[in-house]
Amino acid sequence: MGLIAEELDEVKKLCEHVVQGSKLVSCVPTMVRVEIRRTSYKHLVVCIQFPADYPKSCIIIELKSKILSPKLLDGLTSICESEAKKLLGKPQVLPILKFVRNFIDENPLSCCYDEIASIRKKLITEADEFKLKQKNSTISIKVCQESYFLKAKILVPDEYPEQTVRLDEAETNLPPMFNRWIIAQSKEISRQCIEPPLFKKGKQSSKEIFQPKASLEPVVSFLVGQLRQLPKENCQFCKEKCLPPDPSGAEVNESAGKHVERVYCGHLFHLCCLITYMKTPPFKGGKRCPGCQQQIYHDKWRVGEGLAEKRWAHHEARQRELEEVADFLQ
Ligand SMILES: [Zn+2]
Ligand SMILES: [Zn+2]
Repeated sequence: MGLIAEELDEVKKLCEHVVQGSKLVSCVPTMVRVEIRRTSYKHLVVCIQFPADYPKSCIIIELKSKILSPKLLDGLTSICESEAKKLLGKPQVLPILKFVRNFIDENPLSCCYDEIASIRKKLITEADEFKLKQKNSTISIKVCQESYFLKAKILVPDEYPEQTVRLDEAETNLPPMFNRWIIAQSKEISRQCIEPPLFKKGKQSSKEIFQPKASLEPVVSFLVGQLRQLPKENCQFCKEKCLPPDPSGAEVNESAGKHVERVYCGHLFHLCCLITYMKTPPFKGGKRCPGCQQQIYHDKWRVGEGLAEKRWAHHEARQRELEEVADFLQ
C-alpha cells in the first residue's frame, strides 16, 4: 500500500475522533475534504490535495467558509502551509486538520475579523488604544477626544453574532448623565441587532424575515462617535460649548442651570437655556429643536402647548408689572 493510501486510512479512522467538531466529507487520493465546526459561525471546510511528490513537498490546502472572512482564510491558509512545510517527509493531513481546529479555538475573535479591520480603519486613531485579547475573547478600547475619554472592555461571546457583544467595565469622564445614557444606548443598539422589532412591518411578520446582525461594529461606532462628538457640541440656544475643556469642571448637579441636557433628537441644551427656550413663543405645533427642527421631548419638560402659552402670558404680565414698579421707583 502506498504512503498516501496508508495516510488516508489513518485519516478515515481517526479524523472525527481527534479533530473536534470535524466531519469527513471525502477521503480519496484526489481530495480530502473535512468540515470543521465549533459553532454555526465558526465553521469552515478544509480541502487538501496531494502533490505528485508527496510527502517530499507539502499538501495543497484550500480553506472555504460562508461565514469567516476571506482575508482571514487567506492568512490562515498561509500559516497552514508553513506548518505543513515543517512536516515534509511525514504524514501532514491530520496534523494540519488539528492545527486548523486549534486556531479556531485559540482565536475566538476571528468571527469578527472584518468588523475589527473596519473599526481600526474608520474609528481608531493613533492616540487611542485598541487591543485584542484572543485568550478571553475580549477587545479593550480607550478612545480620547480632547480631555475626555471612554474606556470599555467588549466581550465577543462564542455564539456571536447570534448573541450580542457584551459591554464590560465601560466608563467615561463625561458628566454622569451622559455616561449612563451612552452605556444604556449601546446595550440597546446591540439588543436590536439580535432581536426583531416588536411591531410588524408590512404584511410579513418581522420575525420571519429577521436575521441576527453583527453587533460589534455598530456598538463601537456608537461609543466612539459619541465621545468624538459630545465635547464639540454647542448649546442649541446660547450657542456656547456645552462641555468645558476640563472634564472636572462639568456641572454634575442635575438641577443646576448649567447642567447639560440631551433632548430627544440628540442635540444639547443647558438646562437654563432649555427652560427659557421652552417658555418662549412660538408654541404652535410644539417647540422644535433649533438645530434640526425635530420636536423637543425631554423628561424634565412635559408641558402641553396650552399650558406653555398660559405660562408665557403670565410671565409677560409679571414682567410688565415689574417694569412698572421699576419705573415708579426711579
Ligand atoms: Zn446654553
Ligand atoms: Zn435637534
